[in-house]
Amino acid sequence: MMPHLQGIGMTSPRTRERMIKRLSEQGITNQKVLEAMRNTPRHIFMDEALASRAYEDTALPIGFNQTISQPYIVAKMTELLLASGHLSKVLEIGTGCGYQTAVLAQLVDHVYSVERILPLQKKAQTYLWDLKLKNIGFMYGDGSLGWPDYAPFNGILVSAAPLALPEQLLQQMAVGGVMVIPVGPSGCQTLQRVTRTPDAYKIEEFDAVTFVPFLAGKE
Ligand code: SAH
Repeated sequence: MMPHLQGIGMTSPRTRERMIKRLSEQGITNQKVLEAMRNTPRHIFMDEALASRAYEDTALPIGFNQTISQPYIVAKMTELLLASGHLSKVLEIGTGCGYQTAVLAQLVDHVYSVERILPLQKKAQTYLWDLKLKNIGFMYGDGSLGWPDYAPFNGILVSAAPLALPEQLLQQMAVGGVMVIPVGPSGCQTLQRVTRTPDAYKIEEFDAVTFVPFLAGKE
């Protein structure tokens, strides 16, 4: 086992179990989502200095001015994405540290994950490899362009907030597909779920959220 995969006090399975119990109390009901989060060691995705706080319900820094999403938001977004059943191809924008990617990879057939900050993508790739999750494709690039080579997608999950729904992502949704995405300016964002029907896009609004901005271009 890799050194950073070894359990340490505050990152034990019991600590993770408490997180799962809290998520149920907060209204997460999809048992498959809870099971995937129970199976995923969240602490390995963070620097050692923060690992002891990995299971708190809070966003934490992962470097480059970015944050790992809080457990409740990861659970909620995954639950909203999977509500209509099994998904084969899912596009994720904003790999970040790779935690959300790890949860998704256990629940869908294939994840295509795009990140615009190269060192974050490299690190995430190592962690996910250590966890032996092999059904993930990585791309370093600008997520506002989606990943046309593999489109259309049955699901799209976006982990950074644009001011409006990105046109290319809407176009890369399959009919019947869903996109879960935070939308709005800093301080005024809501979680939205877009469903593509044969002739329209249906939009539902959920929780008020706080995400880092969705930025164009690469770093
Ligand atoms: N789910 C990730 C969230 C990380 S924060 C986690 O829990 O670690 C959001 C991430 O989105 C950052 O890594 C940021 O670099 C990335 N991002 C923002 N805009 C992007 C874009 N247009 N294309 C690709 N990645 C983007």
